[in-house]
Amino acid sequence: MGIILPKQVGTEEGKLLFQNSVGVKDFDEGRKIVESLKKTLEHYGGVGLAAPQIGISRRVFVVNISPTENYPGLPKIGFQAYINPEILEISQEINKDYEGCLSVFYATLRGLVERANSLKIRYLDINGEEQTEEIEHPFYSRVVLHENDHLNGKLFLQRMKTEDFSNLYWNEDLDIRKKDKYGK
Ligand SMILES: [Zn+2]
Repeated sequence: MGIILPKQVGTEEGKLLFQNSVGVKDFDEGRKIVESLKKTLEHYGGVGLAAPQIGISRRVFVVNISPTENYPGLPKIGFQAYINPEILEISQEINKDYEGCLSVFYATLRGLVERANSLKIRYLDINGEEQTEEIEHPFYSRVVLHENDHLNGKLFLQRMKTEDFSNLYWNEDLDIRKKDKYGK
């Protein structure tokens, strides 16, 4: 498995986006999925990617978060894999911000979503070690909740409030196919 153009909502290949994924039992398989997610995320860009987005119904997601020129306030997390994650707690405090998704019109569609500011998560890391992590940064928390939703067949669109649908917008510059010279 290498780089895979993320499956899209509304296509036959994207059906897994609406299904519950199953836990990883074979850790070698988990590692291979992480590798493919990592390559795909690095290729297409973005801050997170979940296994169902590359056509694999397993409970695995990755994030890649670092400060950028446009967003210098982002935490320096870098690349991190979450295998069989479980959200243990989420904060009462919430914030609302725009999200997009590599599986929703190739990341071009942006909509406002409310998410918890912080959370606690338990997962297996890339070495198969169980970790418990408290995520305090609202952006990091948002990414983790978005990716974890993918494992439960839920898209950010389904988290939106009705009143925010009027603020949905397109940004064609974000189309991930532009990063793929073959544009499959
Ligand atoms: Zn997504």
